[in-house]
Amino acid sequence: MAVNRRIVLASRPVGAPTEENFRLEEAPVPAPGPGEMLLRTVWLSLDPYMRGRMSTAKSYAQPVEIGGVMVAGTVARVVESNADGFAPGDLVLSQSGWQEYAVAGPKAVQKLDPAAFPVSLALGTLGMPGMTAYVGLIDIGEPKEGETVVVSAASGAVGSVVGQLAKARGCRAVGIAGGKAKCDYVTGELGFDACVDYRAPDFKARLREACPAGIDVYFENVGGEVGDACFELLNPFARVPVCGRIANYNDTALPDGPDRLPALMGQVLVRRLKIQGFIVTERWNRYPDFIREVGALVREGRLRYREDVVDGLENAPRAFLGLLQGKNFGKLLVRVSPDGAR
Ligand code: NDP
Repeated sequence: MAVNRRIVLASRPVGAPTEENFRLEEAPVPAPGPGEMLLRTVWLSLDPYMRGRMSTAKSYAQPVEIGGVMVAGTVARVVESNADGFAPGDLVLSQSGWQEYAVAGPKAVQKLDPAAFPVSLALGTLGMPGMTAYVGLIDIGEPKEGETVVVSAASGAVGSVVGQLAKARGCRAVGIAGGKAKCDYVTGELGFDACVDYRAPDFKARLREACPAGIDVYFENVGGEVGDACFELLNPFARVPVCGRIANYNDTALPDGPDRLPALMGQVLVRRLKIQGFIVTERWNRYPDFIREVGALVREGRLRYREDVVDGLENAPRAFLGLLQGKNFGKLLVRVSPDGAR
């Protein structure tokens, strides 16, 4: 019997997840029905939103059931096809989850052209994270030439695209990242004007220095103290696309301390701030514009990226836990089968 290894949610975490919240299982490889395909996972994308799917807290998406396969975007190879227009050997973008094989219909996949771009980019810079950067920055951030754009988690899948797009639009791009190596990469490789290490003791002073004209757009990926420091520097009419709050994803209660909401709302009024959350899947109508603009920048070598590749499905839980602690450096991917597809 051909075996499908898969990782299921074993239990729901309270606070920070651990490896015990996941279980590796073996099941028969599923058989495709009429009009369906059998897919073998090549690349598995690990993303912060998966923390939310482990929880039953009220959210914009349904949680994974206990015993259910963890959700994920994947790049997969078609192994068998009963679907018109798809043949064995084709590469597709799919939602196979944390498993080696899955069955899907043609509407659930998108065919990829390996001659156009490395196919793994469909999970990163030219996929969901890149789209997130695009709609958050362009549609909500509305950056104007000469303005200062600050983004946290700047070396990651979303943040790296935000800063490079801001530069392409004539803005000053300032990143915030954890540690010197990430900050050096953000300025040296990605071409941001500055990058500040939020773990440094003088973080706030350095951020102020890096933003001499204040902040016009703060692209919020992190929350916590990083977000607080940026809010202090917002200019009148600044925009804050609230994309993620990864520093708070494991919180089980509000932090101690005085209620700062009245002060924050006071600043929203006095400085006429726009703070807007968004979910990328609700903005997919912008995909053609995104792929035209960001695809061209990647093709011309003007928008760069870095992938952090982990080998083997069995290593996905540990890699995912590392993502929630900043251990990844670039877009986190698991190479599930050594298929040769880039
Ligand atoms: P990244 O590739 O940036 O990886 C996550 C990064 O977050 C880590 O490398 C780390 O960077 C930082 N981080 C992790 N834990 C903490 C912490 N406790 N405090 C501060 N920083 C931390 O991930 P993505 O680019 O995929 O995602 C970035 C953000 O965008 C996330 O918040 C995610 O939830 C959000 N997102 C939102 C979407 C939407 O539709 N709204 C869609 C996609 C992503 P460092 O070491 O530099 O701190």
